[in-house]
Amino acid sequence: MEITLDVPLIRDILRREYDQARDEIRDLGAIRALERSRQRHDARIAAAPDVTTLACSTGCAWCCYFTVDVRAAEVFAILDFVEQSLTPGEQARVQAEVRANSALLRGLDDGQRVTRNVKCPFLADGRCVIYAARPQSCRNYHATNAAGCQQSYEDPENLDIDPEFAPVVYQAGGAHVEAFSTAMHDAGYEVDAYELNSALEAALAEPGARARFESRQAPFAGLSGEEVVAEFDDLEP
Ligand code: SF4
Repeated sequence: MEITLDVPLIRDILRREYDQARDEIRDLGAIRALERSRQRHDARIAAAPDVTTLACSTGCAWCCYFTVDVRAAEVFAILDFVEQSLTPGEQARVQAEVRANSALLRGLDDGQRVTRNVKCPFLADGRCVIYAARPQSCRNYHATNAAGCQQSYEDPENLDIDPEFAPVVYQAGGAHVEAFSTAMHDAGYEVDAYELNSALEAALAEPGARARFESRQAPFAGLSGEEVVAEFDDLEP
């Protein structure tokens, strides 16, 4: 699906989110700043004029079987949320699913990974148990026709399926994430992308991971991240 870029909107979000994120990262650290940024992210998507065209609704969870990429700051913020909000039994279930998923995906390259359906460990009874702390890529994933998501779920190897999406929601969410990530990068934090299950497993298994991240080093000893290519690079103020 081709879209026309709303350049003023993208520039405005890139500038305002970068400035606010930079100040909050400096004052609160990366993980607390991310928690603040999540609220602005949701507000920007909710303010997009085409948000009313979204088919996403409670109980619709086809996309929660697709691969999810996260940054390290998100992983540590999610683990904080899990510890504070989930029962010990639910935490144990999540950890067991993280390990099982991670084993299933280990050794697969990106191309193989996107053609597998793997239930997200945070999906339970058709709902996301970490909804308030869900990753940025989940916040940005949306569709205006759930049939396309269902089709992708039922035919994961068919990469030609193109679930229709809302152009302004897409641009607002994308610009927000890019601005926050640039502010993190400029503050010296690692902003590589990791597969959700592998990163959670590494964070749980490596006691020093969070301290390494907070001291601006690569967080995971046994895992390599991938650099994310900026989409709106040439629009940055
Ligand atoms: S984190 Fe939540 S929204 Fe994202 S894939 Fe998992 S269950 Fe779905």
